Amino acid sequence: MLDTTHFPKAARYWYMGKMHDWSDLSLHPMTHGLHYGTSVFEGIRAYETSRGPEIFRLSEHIDRLLYSAGVVKMTVPYTKEEIITAIKKTVLENELESCYIRPLLFYSYGNLGLVPKASPAELVIAAWEWSTYLGHQAENGINVFLGPWRRVHHSQLDMRAKLGGVYVQSTINGLEARAQGAEEALFLNLEGRIAEGPGENIFVIKDGLVKTNERSESILEGITRTSILEVARDLGYKTILGPITKEELLAADEAFFTGTAVEIIPVISLIDGSDPKAPRRESVIGTGKPGPISLQLRNTYLDLVRGKNPQYKKWLTPVRG
Ligand code: PMP
Repeated sequence: MLDTTHFPKAARYWYMGKMHDWSDLSLHPMTHGLHYGTSVFEGIRAYETSRGPEIFRLSEHIDRLLYSAGVVKMTVPYTKEEIITAIKKTVLENELESCYIRPLLFYSYGNLGLVPKASPAELVIAAWEWSTYLGHQAENGINVFLGPWRRVHHSQLDMRAKLGGVYVQSTINGLEARAQGAEEALFLNLEGRIAEGPGENIFVIKDGLVKTNERSESILEGITRTSILEVARDLGYKTILGPITKEELLAADEAFFTGTAVEIIPVISLIDGSDPKAPRRESVIGTGKPGPISLQLRNTYLDLVRGKNPQYKKWLTPVRG
């Protein structure tokens, strides 16, 4: 039996049309995607609601998955509808009420030349209970490490896609951030402005204005980010898209990360290690505590994903039915 400490309640996964026991290993070590990161994936959440588990913005996630597959020129063996059905089945078969869902498309077994001419794309879907991504303490605000490695630039790769290989950079910087005593990393882009976290978008708030950056800043345009922009406007805040400088982040009243896994997490301090020649500098952002607008957006988000806000039921897909 495989250890499932970090995959609570995972009992079965879906792989190429069949359910497999979690401990069943069905991939060959020469799988193309394992060697070269030639995979694309999504991170999706389902939440417990009064109508049973419902999936947040499922359609948008599958659209992005298929977009990402197009970027690595994959022939996807399933339609959008088939993938949605398989995701629902995976959640149901694991008897999960709220969970994280991971569909992964990858170039499979066939050849190991860089061009996967004999390695067909395959799909696997897993689901498990993943309550908090950065731990329960993170809701009180996190310290982020701004490292020296700049985010892959949008002129080098299509950063709208969630490409497996790009996440090597996220992993390295995530590890470095923790070695530096921070809870998460933050990237500058090649222009030297704030890009994003390894798996999160960033927002800053100044004088009530809610701001985040755009695709041209070398970010993944997160689905949580898009949702929060809409929610903030609905709550009466002005929102703006534009580049965010390091100075702007340090002078912000509040800052927070958004992402499917982290949801909304206040960013309350920064360790600046972006210049390897200069000593690292630690700064507090705002008051050094989660700010009121961040908390309001967070609470609104955590309610709406659980179906408690009729205005946003349009974003939820019931797993049953
Ligand atoms: N940026 C990166 C690099 C990510 O991996 C993620 C997580 N998918 C995000 C931003 C946030 O995207 P979303 O809100 O769609 O989860």
